[in-house]
Amino acid sequence: MPITGRCLCENVKYKISVSPISQGVCYCRQCQKSGGATGLLVLHTDAFEFSGTLSSYETNSDDGSKVRRNFCPTCGSHVFAQILDVPGILTVKASTLDDTDFFVPQYLVWTRSTGRSCAFPSKVPSFQEDAPLEVVLGMAAQT
Ligand SMILES: [Zn+2]
Ligand SMILES: [Zn+2]
Repeated sequence: MPITGRCLCENVKYKISVSPISQGVCYCRQCQKSGGATGLLVLHTDAFEFSGTLSSYETNSDDGSKVRRNFCPTCGSHVFAQILDVPGILTVKASTLDDTDFFVPQYLVWTRSTGRSCAFPSKVPSFQEDAPLEVVLGMAAQT
């Protein structure tokens, strides 16, 4: 600690000051399209600090919740997202971490959206659609 990361062009830099609540991989189509690599760190918003300018884009996710995706307008790196129905929480794209070894997924979600292109690690709990919120927010006790 702290954990740091940045976008491709390094305009946007961030620091994570408290261990993530959980870490997972989201295979939903929107994460695939917005970022390619879809590892996520789930954080309390006050554990996250960034510098630089971000643009954002809001969508209704595959399960109907509103998601704001924040990305660098210069290089296009997707840095973090907020689920607007779950205030106080954000998800940081693990692909932007400076130390990618920090990311160890604890669950996989929306596995049904990958088609046949993806093999899943068998020891990680996986969900065809979204994981229950208890899973996403309850992993902290186990880490
Ligand atoms: Zn950038
Ligand atoms: Zn997703």
